[in-house]
Amino acid sequence: MVDLRSDTVTRPDTGMLTAMMRAEVGDDVLGDDPTVKQLEAVAAQLTGKEAALFTPSGTMANQIAIRGWTQPGDELLMYDGGHPYNYEAGAAATISGVQVRPLPAARGLLDPEVVWAHVRPPNDHFAPATLLMVENTSNRGGGSVYPLDTLAALYEGARTRGLAVHLDGARVFNAAAALGVPLKQITAHCDSVCFCLSKGLGAPVGSVLAGSAAWIARARRIRKMLGGGMRQSGYLAAAGLYALEHNPPRLVDDHRRARRLYEGLVEMGFSATEPETNMVYVTVPRAAEAEAALAARGVACIAVGPELIRLVTHLDVDDAGISSALAGFALLRPART
Ligand SMILES: *Cc1c(COP(=O)(O)O)cnc(C)c1O
Repeated sequence: MVDLRSDTVTRPDTGMLTAMMRAEVGDDVLGDDPTVKQLEAVAAQLTGKEAALFTPSGTMANQIAIRGWTQPGDELLMYDGGHPYNYEAGAAATISGVQVRPLPAARGLLDPEVVWAHVRPPNDHFAPATLLMVENTSNRGGGSVYPLDTLAALYEGARTRGLAVHLDGARVFNAAAALGVPLKQITAHCDSVCFCLSKGLGAPVGSVLAGSAAWIARARRIRKMLGGGMRQSGYLAAAGLYALEHNPPRLVDDHRRARRLYEGLVEMGFSATEPETNMVYVTVPRAAEAEAALAARGVACIAVGPELIRLVTHLDVDDAGISSALAGFALLRPART
């Protein structure tokens, strides 16, 4: 069985479980869990921000960011395939009362000129745009990576127009691995950033939100409001610390395996998106049926459109898993013309 549904399916290994069992914990709502504090300090340091906040999920981290940067009636600009617009249950409208302005973006990477064309001048008729969200890597964009100069242009342009920039960095460690740069070089181009510990980094639960000390203090209150204050969460933070210490260097293995998967699929005649990181989107007729047929052969994946399947490599997929996946797809192989 090879599970390519998502990089969220990883299970903690023995080293991570041991770190969790050994964690020193307290009550984080009362402010005395040393392991959570350590995770937040490490995350702040890695992102080059003043402070950080441990959250139960990336969805909560994004929603805290939206609430933390906007007022009800504001406009939030983002890619139209972006996570908060598509996969966060309409939370931005409910929790923050903002309207989302979804923007087209090739491979999920916003073009600064397209963004500025949608920022309207101050006027009683218009909802003021106060927040720009940037997703890196871009999930629906195919795991694509923003060039650093595009991030710099987006941040600079947003600042001059009075918008804050939140980086939805659920997979920003994959972006750093693909570019071969320290995380800080990416996270320098935003006011706040969140990343998932529970994806390619392999922790069972959790995300971290980082920003200025004053803004994170505000974010901490919003987390509490949303029910995200946790007690002996040091057990989970210990998994996150273990993940940050051990797993970023191996993300390049996931990228290499995604590429092998892509090359194998193309060789068989499938049309697929060339991976920049750990995702391959492959076109198949009747994707839902194909998903079921692949599952019956021990290859788990997700049909994300009528003719589109997403495959994601991660910590628990080895070279043999890629071979199994390719063997499964071989039986669905399109007729050569
Ligand atoms: C997974 C993901 C999130 C957060 O997801 P959770 O499952 O709530 O942790 C946010 N943004 C993107 C782009 C994601 O892929």
